[in-house]
Amino acid sequence: MQLQMVDLRGQYRRLKGEIDQAVADVLDSARFIRGPVVAAFEEELAEYVGVTHAIGVANGTDALQIAYMALNIGPGDEVITPSFTFIATAEAAALLGATPIFADIEPDTFNLNPASVASLITPRTRAIVPVHLFGQSADMDPIMALAQEHNLAVIEDNAQAIGATYKGRWTGSMGRMSICSFFPSKNLGAYGDGGAILTNDPDLAGRVRMITNHGGSHKYFNEIVGLNSRLDALQAAILRVKLRHLGDFTELRRQAAARYDQLLSRAMTIRTPPRASWGQHVFHQYTLRTPARDELATHLESRGVPYGIYYPVPLHRQSVFAGEAPVPELPATDAASHQVLSLPMHTELTDEQQVYIAEAVQEHVHRTAT
Ligand SMILES: *Cc1c(COP(=O)(O)O)cnc(C)c1O
Repeated sequence: MQLQMVDLRGQYRRLKGEIDQAVADVLDSARFIRGPVVAAFEEELAEYVGVTHAIGVANGTDALQIAYMALNIGPGDEVITPSFTFIATAEAAALLGATPIFADIEPDTFNLNPASVASLITPRTRAIVPVHLFGQSADMDPIMALAQEHNLAVIEDNAQAIGATYKGRWTGSMGRMSICSFFPSKNLGAYGDGGAILTNDPDLAGRVRMITNHGGSHKYFNEIVGLNSRLDALQAAILRVKLRHLGDFTELRRQAAARYDQLLSRAMTIRTPPRASWGQHVFHQYTLRTPARDELATHLESRGVPYGIYYPVPLHRQSVFAGEAPVPELPATDAASHQVLSLPMHTELTDEQQVYIAEAVQEHVHRTAT
């Protein structure tokens, strides 16, 4: 059986008519940088997430960096992020000379633990960056309360969770700013790189726009130090098509997750992903936990089942960061990094494929039991 972690070609075939037309229209218009298609996508994205401003940029990592720049985060400042995340969340702060401070996660949802965040706040702290990991919202109420109490900005890293909810609100709409990534395998993926910064604050939105455009609002007049980071019109045209289908695609991911839950319900040593009570998961990943993770991985390989380990080395143990300070104690993060394994999850999964994948997992469970 031919299996993949994500099936981008299958999804393209489903949308081919609409996408090919949208791409042809941009080619015909010859408006490749900024212009009406990018503006229309920015408006539709802001509306989807429930905020007033969205600014397209070149990728999600740039979006994080620009969000930090818009808040003037730099040398001497501390930014609290989870350790159990993709490197970009912290890297973008370090690049600006700020110090990422790594907090622990909740063992069941893999998301930022508010008590751990509280213990790390110092007079240098400027921002808290919850990551809605694997498609599920972090517990935002206590994080927002801490931010308010200590006058900190919250930047939601929503790269993996567009369309998820927290107590009736969309992820990406709760913090001072949020960022998205349109890397092809993300839930809303382009056919190349892309990202966005979202906010309800018109002044911050203006600053973000200036930063993405060499620090000026008029060509050849530069007010602050900026850079060149933009979403191009071809990607925006593709993303407009895919945004129209995102609700349906999220539903397909949820159905696939429910099917895995059911197929794996008797696999005693495997923990399927728990759903937090506060909102709806969008299953960027379907992540299992098992103490015998490496054995499970070897067995899946032997059966031709692809899998992902997100993340094998948490950020507080990455050599880029570990050298600078004593390595903090983050027990829930360390445990997760040894126990997680993500199964194929995408919009094109069939029943037959999921049965095959689940059977391979079951075989491993039986073997380790005997
Ligand atoms: C993908 C991702 C990013 C970075 O996005 P790119 O578009 O790849 O630069 C940042 N944070 C998280 C949590 C991500 O998953």
